[in-house]
Amino acid sequence: MPREPLTPDQQRHVSEAMRHIHPAYGPDLPFERIAINQGALCIECKACDRRSAMTSDNCAHIHIGNKTLIKSMKFTCQRCGCGSTETRLYNAHTRAEAEMFLAGDPLPDGRKVK
Ligand SMILES: [Zn+2]
Repeated sequence: MPREPLTPDQQRHVSEAMRHIHPAYGPDLPFERIAINQGALCIECKACDRRSAMTSDNCAHIHIGNKTLIKSMKFTCQRCGCGSTETRLYNAHTRAEAEMFLAGDPLPDGRKVK
């Protein structure tokens, strides 16, 4: 039995509801999501705890259309003498979150990419 199409009023309710859904991307986060959110990819070195944040301004990978999964790339610690590739990755939803992270604060729950 085919379903009746939604009335314009019902459609409006659905799109209203959808606007409030913030999907949790988790480990399948593509680079473009950072660009779309205008957030930042936060990286913490497991070896030396150096923290850094990459945005569309300083990382060529972060642009809309790049569907490469962040977890598929290797990140190298930029601290002189470290160079570890063991990193924790987080998705900061806003630049403000990234600044908090760089200042040493933890990010809110659900931001871990890897
Ligand atoms: Zn390091």
